[in-house]
Amino acid sequence: MHFKCNVCTALDVGRTLTRGDGRNVLFCENCDMGVIELIPEDTSVFYEDTYYGAANADEMGYHDYEFTADHSLLWVKLMLETISPTGRILDIGCANGHLLRSLNGTYERFGIEVNAAAAEVARKRGVAIIASDVFDPAVSNRTHGSFDFITSIATFEHVNDFRGAFDVSLKSLQHDGVLIFEVPLMSYTRDNKDWLESSYEHVYYPTVKGMETLFKEFPDYQFTGFESAIAGYSSTYIGVAARDPQVFSRVAQLFQAMTKPSPAGLSDAEISINLAYNVVHSFNVTADRILALPTLIKQANSFNLMKRLTQLWHADRVVAESAGTALESAQWHAQQAKNWQGEWDRLHHDTEELKATNAAMYKQLQALSEGN
Ligand SMILES: [Zn+2]
Repeated sequence: MHFKCNVCTALDVGRTLTRGDGRNVLFCENCDMGVIELIPEDTSVFYEDTYYGAANADEMGYHDYEFTADHSLLWVKLMLETISPTGRILDIGCANGHLLRSLNGTYERFGIEVNAAAAEVARKRGVAIIASDVFDPAVSNRTHGSFDFITSIATFEHVNDFRGAFDVSLKSLQHDGVLIFEVPLMSYTRDNKDWLESSYEHVYYPTVKGMETLFKEFPDYQFTGFESAIAGYSSTYIGVAARDPQVFSRVAQLFQAMTKPSPAGLSDAEISINLAYNVVHSFNVTADRILALPTLIKQANSFNLMKRLTQLWHADRVVAESAGTALESAQWHAQQAKNWQGEWDRLHHDTEELKATNAAMYKQLQALSEGN
């Protein structure tokens, strides 16, 4: 089989990694974009009903999906609502319509979903399902240039043409439209085990270098993005693209606000996005962010948000408790060290006394022997 990079069309493989299932991931020598060695022609087989753990509507599974979707998609929801409370929005890989349905505003909601059962749930919730696949001709023929927003969260790694999926998405945007996306990232600095030891349905393995090369393939659009480090999990790449310079600058500013180390100086909407991303999604909690939480709760209160914050509180409490135990143990060791020091001082003192007594006795002996 001949290798040809999907992003830059280079023909040489640089490095190779092997997944936990024994299959190889090949990285382009030129741009370092990764791809599975043999691309499956039909990837839909991966998305049978068990993919969502929930499609048979087992109550537990269903609530688990809703809960996970709630905290991993909250930043997207808040960002969309902040950019505009109205518009035509397409969610690629919309699952049961969770993100679209969560939006507060007068949006026209469209979805693409490969799993028929999930798509049916989305439809019942008022989402217009336009296709099961982003490459369905219905998408490029009918929706060209028609969306204000397109979201693609954790979907482009599953398709068999990564660059093509970006191409269709960008073409489906209106002139002032915005594409927001998230894909798994093969990090240069963090552990990639979640991508190499599970998620075997993935086809593409993007790197920062690969993504930056991809962006250059679409010179009419401006892109920005960053490596997203979720505590205890492998990285993802979160990015945005827009053609209109003013729209891009507004969205890029929101991205900056989202990743700012402290919420100080941000507007309420920006604070909520910052907390939804850093606290609720990525588990990167700081004292400043905890103090700002009421701003987020005011804007996006829900049972699932409270449940997520409870998880965070608990995780921090566990760390604090083990730190407390560590402190107690350190104090015990310090006391032990003090006890040893005291014991040593006493021994030293006794020894010195003994030496002095010896010396005195020696003197007496000498005096006695001299006297003889
Ligand atoms: Zn390449």
